[in-house]
Parts: sequence; C-alpha cells; structure tokens
Amino acid sequence: MTSKGIHHVTAIAGSARRNLDFYTATLGLRLVKKTVNFDDPGTYHFYFGDDAGRPGSILTFFPWEHADEGRAGVGETQETAFRIPEASIGYWTGRLIARGLAPELPEKRFGASVISFKDPDGMRLALVGVPGIDAEPAWTGGEVPAEHAIRGLHSVTLLLKEAGPTAAILTDVFGFAETGREGTRIRFTAAGAEGDGQIGTIVDIREAGGFLSGRQGRGSVHHIAFRAADDAAQAGMVERLTAHHGARVTGQRDRNYFRSVYFREPGGVLFEIATDDPGFAVDEAPESLGEALKLPAQYEAHRAEIEATLPAVA
Ligand code: ZN
Repeated sequence: MTSKGIHHVTAIAGSARRNLDFYTATLGLRLVKKTVNFDDPGTYHFYFGDDAGRPGSILTFFPWEHADEGRAGVGETQETAFRIPEASIGYWTGRLIARGLAPELPEKRFGASVISFKDPDGMRLALVGVPGIDAEPAWTGGEVPAEHAIRGLHSVTLLLKEAGPTAAILTDVFGFAETGREGTRIRFTAAGAEGDGQIGTIVDIREAGGFLSGRQGRGSVHHIAFRAADDAAQAGMVERLTAHHGARVTGQRDRNYFRSVYFREPGGVLFEIATDDPGFAVDEAPESLGEALKLPAQYEAHRAEIEATLPAVA
C-alpha cells in the first residue's frame, strides 16, 4: 500500500502566456496537457512533464492573470526541485544566467550539487545534479539538448512549524522513510527508491518553528499529489489517514487523467492522492499530447464560451 512518491505538484501562476513560455522554452519541459481548472473552467490548467507525462515528472499550474503575489512562509511548500544529469550543472547555470534569472551559486545538499532560482512569478525552483540518469527518458522536442534535459521531479521541500505530525503521515501512510538530516533539512525517501535514483521520490521537511505563515498567491505551490497505483491502493491510504491520523479526506474526484482525494496535512499543506491510471494519453495520442485544448465531458457543451474566456497564449 505504499506510494511510489510524488505524482505531481500544482502551483499558481500569473500570466498564462508567460507561464507556458517559461516552462516549455526556458526549462524545456513538454506541455503534456492543456485543459481547464475543473473547478473553475474559465482558467487554464497546464500540465508540464517529460516526453510521456509520467507520474513523478509533472508540474501543473493554474494561471490566474490577476493573482496577487504569494508570500513565502511556514505551512507551505518552499521549493520544487527537478533532476538534471550531474554533468549539466554548468550548462544550466549558464542558461539561467543568460536568461536573466539570477540563480544562486551552486550549493551541496546531501552531496549533490543544487542550483536554486525563481520562476517569473517568484516560485522557488531548484535543479539537482544526479549521477547515472543520462539514459533516462526526457522531452527532447524543445530547445534544451537531450543530454541536459530535465529528468522529472527530484523533490519538494516543505517549510513547517514542526516536522513530526507530517513525517508520521509520510512514513505511516505513504511508506516513506527518513533517510538523512543536514542542517535544518530532514529527508524522507519513498519505499524502494535509492537516494536520488528515481523520479519524484524525495520530500524534505525544514522546521521553522513560529516563523511567519505563508500566504498563497502566484508563485505558491497549491498542493502536492502522491502516487497510488490504483483505486484500491488509494482506498488503503485513506483508511490509514482516517484511522491513524484523524485526517478529513474528500471523496474521490475524477480528474480525467487520474482519480484524486485531497486532505490538509497537519503542517498546513494540501496533499492529494492521485492514481497512476489512466494517464495523459487517455484523450490524446502520445505524439500530440498538449496540442489541443482538452475539456472534461461536463464542459464540452460550453467549449465555445470557455475558449472565448481563456486568455490568448499563442
Ligand atoms: Zn493535483
């Protein structure tokens, strides 16, 4: 009943056009699905990922053109990190500088080189150099050469008042284990994953005590989704959440590409449990992922109005 790790991360952006341009052109990710926010169909929902949109490679956005800037603080996701080949740290540092993104000097975390920077909405991102991943799949249809392309998510860092209650859920419900401590950072790794060896398998918690709370806005992470193999695995996790942690979990929602439940973890971060199936090729051929605006069945009758409402991105 354990989770294989992170399924996706969802964040809030401002301008849809700027968001799309940054993640595809600058970071070289594939737009694997262009749809709308199922709870707010006048807003886009962009999914970026690897060549096939594998779970663990996905970062998604709700772009709200007039969203206020978020404020970093306690009770939220502080940073989202991607994996790059170890030898690509220099390439990426140069690429980010050339695009005016002012990355921090590379630092070492648990022995790996890490470059941190912010996206145009102020979202904190990092690239982690990982050895031995050069042959892993990646999207190579963009501007970033295949040898340097991002290979999925590395980790998220949660900034929390205290680590304990959230750690209990990661370990007891999702099957993660504590695998290291460095400075204020406590590292948790999904079951069966070795070090940085697999996509989306690391959650770091930093304890900040009574520091200022975060406030969601553009540049903030909205939620973190964890993987469940199927409905039965998801139901097992919900049962443990309820029985052992007193969590209040939503009913299952059909998100077309996965089925989800949501709960607020004790540290304040919204968590989701998303099934691996059916995936992004359910309504679009694998070779044309992200090209057409896809709507769930309940909105198809309103396609013309929805298309007229959505901001221009091309
Ligand atoms: Zn989600």
